[in-house]
Amino acid sequence: MARITLDNLKHSYSANPVSMDDYALKEIDLDWTDGGAYALLGPSGCGKSTLLNIISGLLNPTSGRVMFDGEDVTALPPDKRNIAQVFQFPVIYDTMTVYDNLAFPLRNRGVEREQIDNRVHEIATMLELTDSLSTRASHLTPDNKQKISMGRGLVRDDVNVIMFDEPLTVIDPELKWKLRSKLKELHQSIASTMIYVTHDQTEALTFADQVVVMQEGEIVQIGTPIELFERPLHTFVGHFIGSPGMNILPAEMVNGSVRFLDHPVELEGPIKDSKGSLEIGIRPEYVRIGTKGIPAVIRKVADIGRRTVIEACVNDILVNAITEKVPPETGQEVHLEFEPNQTRLYADSWIATEVGAQ
Ligand code: ADP
Ligand code: MG
Repeated sequence: MARITLDNLKHSYSANPVSMDDYALKEIDLDWTDGGAYALLGPSGCGKSTLLNIISGLLNPTSGRVMFDGEDVTALPPDKRNIAQVFQFPVIYDTMTVYDNLAFPLRNRGVEREQIDNRVHEIATMLELTDSLSTRASHLTPDNKQKISMGRGLVRDDVNVIMFDEPLTVIDPELKWKLRSKLKELHQSIASTMIYVTHDQTEALTFADQVVVMQEGEIVQIGTPIELFERPLHTFVGHFIGSPGMNILPAEMVNGSVRFLDHPVELEGPIKDSKGSLEIGIRPEYVRIGTKGIPAVIRKVADIGRRTVIEACVNDILVNAITEKVPPETGQEVHLEFEPNQTRLYADSWIATEVGAQ
């Protein structure tokens, strides 16, 4: 187990990078404490696997340093870093039994037979693989093969970090849900530093205590799931997290107050920066539908179980609202109110308000 520090990491796959656009990772600084559960969350192509491969040593960064417990490991090859990495698709030995696959990383390190046996059974129980321990891996379904792959990552107890790169891609939806909560349990019982990479917000938010949100090779916010939901520091986090995501609405400053299509809007607190293009951010959960506020017309009403998602139009701008009350009907004229302490201002996509009295 180790604390992991990434210091000013940059990576370009091009031999002669000229502009920042040539970098898959632009400038990454991170400090992950020992024993934490972390997620790297971002859309496909934002640089998540590049970052993991730099941490594991499969890739050398163009510049910057990787440190374990304060020691520079940037130049160390993968086998000297003591890391377990689970990939998107199963990496197992098809001709071996499930037992031998799980035992392999331990036998490789000369662990005693009895200790191996205990650990293999322990991991197999956690992953519900006990019944197939003597089956040859080639006879298993893709789901079960991926479970072995995960088991091989979890079986050693001496690793600095266990990293999962979108490990549930090949798993069917029902089992996905189960394995997701299982991994969280495993983190609690194994207490290793774990880094979980995914483009799926539900996976990231259920697994991690702290989530790093990436976009186009950069970190846009690091926070707990609640922090990311409550107060996105960047509009990207606002609309990427949440279902539907945050409403990001055009805004302008008129005589020192902020307006959305000529309607004055009360914000969470004082404005610290109003330079650049302004937008208001308000989550659908905090848009109230009633008889006062901004006039709007209901365009669509969708029942999603306990809650209803409502699409309302203010002129031609769409505002989503979520309600647990009896919903309005399509075509109905209503008014929208934004809960002031949940209404943020963004300037050039970055948060521009402070929390507190105006
Ligand atoms: P993610 O894992 O978030 O989907 P990646 O780290 O795989 O993203 O990719 C980040 C960027 O780097 C993408 O633009 C991708 O096309 C590019 N990239 C990834 N691997 C290579 C490679 N081996 N050679 C060149 N470009 C690559
Ligand atoms: Mg990837």
